[in-house]
Amino acid sequence: MKAQELLNRFHEIATCPKAQMAHYLDSGKKVVLTAPVYTPEEIIHAMGAVPFGVWGADIELNESKRYFPAFICSIMQSLLELGIKGTYEGASAIVIPSLCDSLKVIGQNWKYAVPSIPFIPMTYPQNRKPDYGVAFTKAGYERVIADLEKTAGLKFDDAALGKSIEVYNAHNAVMRELVCVLANHPEVSNAARSDVFKSAFFMLKEEHTELVRELIAALGEEESGPAKTKIMTSGILADAPGLVSILDDCGLQIVCDDVAAESRQYATDTPAEGETNLDRLAVKFKEMDNCSVLYDADKKRCAKIAADAKAAGAKGVLVVLTKFCDPEEFDYPLIKKACDAEGIPVTVIEVDRQMVNYEQARTAIETFRDIL
Ligand code: SF4
Repeated sequence: MKAQELLNRFHEIATCPKAQMAHYLDSGKKVVLTAPVYTPEEIIHAMGAVPFGVWGADIELNESKRYFPAFICSIMQSLLELGIKGTYEGASAIVIPSLCDSLKVIGQNWKYAVPSIPFIPMTYPQNRKPDYGVAFTKAGYERVIADLEKTAGLKFDDAALGKSIEVYNAHNAVMRELVCVLANHPEVSNAARSDVFKSAFFMLKEEHTELVRELIAALGEEESGPAKTKIMTSGILADAPGLVSILDDCGLQIVCDDVAAESRQYATDTPAEGETNLDRLAVKFKEMDNCSVLYDADKKRCAKIAADAKAAGAKGVLVVLTKFCDPEEFDYPLIKKACDAEGIPVTVIEVDRQMVNYEQARTAIETFRDIL
């Protein structure tokens, strides 16, 4: 297939998750919803179900307002709204990690608002590095396994987890390669780049890996287009079509990112060694770093953003701040400081999933482009 045909396929999948979910259910598979960030998908995959990413949607909020105050991030609000409206009917369970205050409260609301889809908590430790942190993570995974066995009728097998880990490590590698390849292909729009990342949440990872490999091969045979102004993006989510199209209109090209729904997902592989495969997976969480929701007193991620932007030749960093996301808000001043020290311009735009008018963001991005 040609690159454009593959990009069209990614777009189709990214914009129609409902069809993807129906496709898996019709083929007899069970679907388990995975809320952001770092839900242990490998376990769900190893138990024979399809892990299906749920990061909310750009919709109007009505029902979820009965459960949440207005000052909670719109990713959680829209996730609950979709659940209440029956969008995920047919799913066997939802696994929600505990990595921020909003995530900690959504589970209890979900239990009452969407009783047809059982809620399974994944409680992570704050101190994930010491041995007791790893043991805590492993115990959290065991709880997820027990709940999946009980509520979804799935069965766990450690050898199967080993195979799933290989599938996920291979997917991580291909997604990291993709970022480097796309950096050399300015003719691929930021919107198309976003589709490739977003579609990964709605596909079995082995299927997504194959499609991304095909895309990389197809791009390799095609000439790259005229150069654009290179930037780096940072944030939790940066997939709103209204926003991404502004970057394309302004002649900006995302050459690397520090976005939780994009490259942060794929930065850390499960290590090769471990007593059991579940132990290996617990160590993977220990080794994760450079994310606003992962505790780090030294905030090394901020210097890393500046270093990554420099290495990729990005002329500036665009921080896409999800409204009411405390972990990201706390890090922003430090990101700005680290980039200032390296002489890299930074700008921030605030977004939420209910935005319909991006004109203020357009003005900020156009001004940013003009100073790069
Ligand atoms: S990390 Fe931020 S955007 Fe993600 S769920 Fe928590 S508050 Fe919302």
